[in-house]
Amino acid sequence: MKQYKVMWLFVVLAACVLVLQFHASSTWVAGPPQQAAQDAAPDSGQPALRELAARLARELAGACRDAQTTTAASPAEPRLYVITPTYRRPEQIPELTRLAQTLMHVRNLHWLVVEDAANKTRLVTQLLRKTRLSFDHLLAPMPDVYKTRRGPKPRGVSNRNCGLEWIRANATSGVVYFADDDNTYDIELFEEMRWTTRVSMWPVGLCTKFGLSTPIVIDSKFAGFYDGWVAGRKFPVDMAGFAVSVQFLLQRPNAKMPYKPGFEEDGFLKSLAPFEPSQIELKANNCSKVLVWHTQTKKNDPSAALNMTKYANTNLVHLKKLIV
Ligand code: UDP
Ligand code: MN
Repeated sequence: MKQYKVMWLFVVLAACVLVLQFHASSTWVAGPPQQAAQDAAPDSGQPALRELAARLARELAGACRDAQTTTAASPAEPRLYVITPTYRRPEQIPELTRLAQTLMHVRNLHWLVVEDAANKTRLVTQLLRKTRLSFDHLLAPMPDVYKTRRGPKPRGVSNRNCGLEWIRANATSGVVYFADDDNTYDIELFEEMRWTTRVSMWPVGLCTKFGLSTPIVIDSKFAGFYDGWVAGRKFPVDMAGFAVSVQFLLQRPNAKMPYKPGFEEDGFLKSLAPFEPSQIELKANNCSKVLVWHTQTKKNDPSAALNMTKYANTNLVHLKKLIV
């Protein structure tokens, strides 16, 4: 029955594409060609219609591919909300470029890029626009009390909480994931997390002295955590190692991340109560694949000032504005 429906959809869409393509062709117009083209697309003329027809054809091809690979009736694909904390530093644009170009391979994703800054960084705004991803560019500076405090800082906490607030205000379903700007993500990971109903987890590579942070699995069942720094945590996991269903989050209006260095993941997961480790949804083939790595980029010093007596009339003046 479903196959007939898909066939009908195919036929109707194919007919639409044909009609559009005829419309766009200069030989199939009643009046003078230029006039007809102007009527059809006043801004850019025929190329706009052709582009539309080509896009429809591409989407149709995609729909057919999906229809061929889908056997059971599948509910609408859940949307992924990826929250990325970031801050101005020499590595910021390279990190975001790499992450953006990973996310560009993922369907139905909304990227929340939250800067720990008072003002949006122009280069970040430009980068986001260039990706053509669906995104929001938000600001959430780290509160001064934490910024000026000695010792370890709660990095990215104000940013992630800001992202969570955005989700509470704007989303009703889907899945939320905290993707730091400096990690490495296999695009397969995003399809693993997409069908999360409560909280899903998977291994993270390059993490702690064990080189790995992951749920332990015995006979397809959760049996504990493996992490090089347990420190009495109920959920000794890495930020990159879990995703949460938006509905599950919305049912817990007080869930948020604490400003507690080292205990951000644990605090957030505990704030999702009622939720126990035994309820974790194990992904990545029962936690047997590493699809994300806690890569840490080497910190670079800000670049030395440009000698303007020597280089005032050169490209270096412009280039210096692009780097920190
Ligand atoms: N971050 C931030 N403000 C800071 C430090 C870090 O917004 O002052 C962001 C950073 O861009 C990253 C996340 O918070 O996405 C985690 O920071 P970092 O990678 O430095 O922490 P680590 O992974 O080393 O624990
Ligand atoms: Mn990091």
